[in-house]
Amino acid sequence: MKNLKVGDIEFKLIKRRSRSITTKIRDGEVIVSAPFYVSQKEVLEVVEKQIPWIEKHLEKAGRKKSNARLKYIDGEKIYFLGGEYLLKIEASAKKKTVVEIDKERGEIIVQTSSQDAQVIKRAVDARFKKELMAKIDSLLPECQRITGKTINSYDIRKMTTSWGICHIKDRTVTFSLQLAQKSDEEIKYIIIHELTHLIEPNHSLKFKEHMTRFIPDWKRIKKEINS
Ligand SMILES: [Zn+2]
Repeated sequence: MKNLKVGDIEFKLIKRRSRSITTKIRDGEVIVSAPFYVSQKEVLEVVEKQIPWIEKHLEKAGRKKSNARLKYIDGEKIYFLGGEYLLKIEASAKKKTVVEIDKERGEIIVQTSSQDAQVIKRAVDARFKKELMAKIDSLLPECQRITGKTINSYDIRKMTTSWGICHIKDRTVTFSLQLAQKSDEEIKYIIIHELTHLIEPNHSLKFKEHMTRFIPDWKRIKKEINS
């Protein structure tokens, strides 16, 4: 994966076995996939032609409930476990950046001596990862009971192209850190989706039938989480 820029548009380039260059926007992020044999110059040319289309879709994405476009500055709206919070950055003399979540006031407070957005982002990400882990731990037993399938372990990583990946052979799941923005219902849907892969590896008709049995209105939740 590579980060590239064309005009004002930043995008991630993923090289893979494919026949054409495709562009999509996920969570406010532009992701371009291209065949291995296509040069960077060719990719840039194709993406340049798509700029108006990308801008239109990014604008739409900007109205979406997503943290992908955060600049990590005081007063920003930040999403956490399906709720809308206010990001507060407070100056601190301490070396360590501390992240506090005040659910009652709807605030995420970062106390930091740094003015580097990356430092703040890292601290927020670390805290969100911990919170997401606690959330998954609390939802997993019920999801395992519903599907009748269990996993050995899971991990949480930064992923932009999927909410989860089921490693069928090891019976493990990797969840996207971006799930920390999502509601219990949406997180539960993703857990059940990944567990269902232990029954059906592909998104076949059978897979969908199982999903309907486990969560009758999964299609609505799927639409919501990806909208
Ligand atoms: Zn799947």
